[in-house]
This record gives sequence, structure tokens and C-alpha cells, in this order.
Amino acid sequence: MHTVAEMREASRVARADGHRIGFVPTMGALHAGHAALIDRARTECGMVVVSVFVNPTQFDRADDLAAYPRTLDIDAAVCATHGTDVVFAPSANEMYPDGPRASLRAGDLGVQLEGASRPGHFDGVATIVARLLDAVEPDVAYFGRKDYQQTLVVRHMIASEGIPTVVEVLPTVRDHDGLALSSRNIRLSPGDRERALAIPRGLISASRLFDNGVIETDAIVRAVREELSRADIGIDYVVIVDPDSLAPLATARVGAVVLVAATVAGVRLIDNVILGR
Ligand code: AMP
Repeated sequence: MHTVAEMREASRVARADGHRIGFVPTMGALHAGHAALIDRARTECGMVVVSVFVNPTQFDRADDLAAYPRTLDIDAAVCATHGTDVVFAPSANEMYPDGPRASLRAGDLGVQLEGASRPGHFDGVATIVARLLDAVEPDVAYFGRKDYQQTLVVRHMIASEGIPTVVEVLPTVRDHDGLALSSRNIRLSPGDRERALAIPRGLISASRLFDNGVIETDAIVRAVREELSRADIGIDYVVIVDPDSLAPLATARVGAVVLVAATVAGVRLIDNVILGR
């Protein structure tokens, strides 16, 4: 479906038939991380909707937006394989009739870390998620933990807008070598991909240090940074934060989150791990 009107009508009919509606918002170029969200929705809901929309307002760089992969036909086939009922693929004009501008502010959670590196990013995320939820009106929306800060921004937006959708966050799906699946990974050459593996390696060392009793976050962060530097990866940030507020912690504790953003050959990658889990 390509229009909000069609989408609303499909949801209305499903709801009238007594179905729970599960929704997986994506930007397409679907991989097993997205599929895990769709599979979970399929087990929990009578109607599964997947949106495929490359949201212009969450990109702060025109070249990044232009380079983002667009593979709608393949995505629709992946959705079908995983039992999706509706693929919602609106045009930019459909989602932004007044032009591509963010109309919601993500607030404090949205201006740090990813938000500091990509100004306006989370205002765009909050805006598009609100508009998609308004079109689909799902009972449950599914998000991946790989985009940790995004899950907090979305939860905050849903609460402050009074949207009755329940948010479920599912674990990060990784490739066989440990690299977190991302639509951006296809832009990595085999050599760059090999270097990118320092990111999951760094996160594993962070977990190991914590499990072995190291709680000074400085020491853990240093170990992660060394792992990334050895692979000659450009570090944007490595931080250990409170899981709800994203406030930096001096002392790590169970549930604290290690967040990494790094650039490999011009491709920006993010990943994270929750300590003690
Ligand atoms: P995207 O298409 O990148 O906007 O992602 C759409 C949804 O899929 C978001 O909720 C992401 O967090 C989630 N996602 C992306 N990559 C992964 C992954 N490797 N594991 C789990 N969820 C993911």
C-alpha cells in the first residue's frame, strides 16, 4: 500500500475483525535483523504491517540519504516470506505533504550521542514514527536494540504524545562473524568489513572486563577504544551510560549500556552491549 488512506482502511478492517495489529517500521534493504522483528510480530499479532520508507528528515547529509539502499521489490518478497500482511511503502509526499520537515522534537534524549553527531536526526525519527503510528494504529510496534538511543527516543515520544501503542524491543541480530546486521554493511568492502569486526570484538572485551570485576568505566572504554584503534577505525564515541537516561557513568553496573559509533571507510556503524546480561 502506498497511501495513508489505504493503510488506515486496512487497519480499520483488521481491527473490526478482532485482530491485534503488529507494526515493524523500517527503511528497507531488509535483512535478518528486520526479519526477526517481523517474525515476532507474526507470532503475536493477527495482522502484521511492515513499513518501508527511507525517511528524509532523519538524514543530516544529502549524500548519505542518496546512497541509502532502496530495494523495494526484494523487500516486499522478504516480507511475504515472513508472513507480512501489508507492506506500507508511502512516497515522501504522502508522509510529508507540507515538505520534508520534522514537526516533533525528540528532546534531551535526542541531542546527545547520535543526535550530537547527526543534528536533527532524532527529531526526524520521532516525527516519522509518530506519523507512521498514526497511519497504522498498531497495538504493538517492534524495534531493534541495535539502535539503542532510538528505542528511548521512540518510547519517550509515544508517552508524551499519548499514543496507545506498546513498544517491544528485540535483541540485536548479528552476522556469523559477530558484526551487527545493518543495511549499511553492503557498502563495506571485504577488507573494511574485516576491520569493522573490531566493533563487536571491542564490545565483547567490555563485557568480559565487567564480568571479571572491572567497574571503572574509564578502563572499559579505554579497552574498547584500543580495539578500534588497532583496526584503524574512526571513533565517534565510546561511552558507558545509564540505560534509561543515557547519562554517562563513572562506575559500571549490571544493565549499563556500552554504546559505540565508528566510521569504517566512510560508513558509519553503531553497536552496543548491555553489561552483565
Ligand atoms: P532501519 O531499517 O535501519 O531503520 O531499522 C528498522 C528496525 O530494524 C529498527 O527498529 C532497527 O533497530 C531494527 N534493526 C536494524 N538492524 C537490526 C539488527 N541487526 N538486529 C535487530 N534489529 C535491527
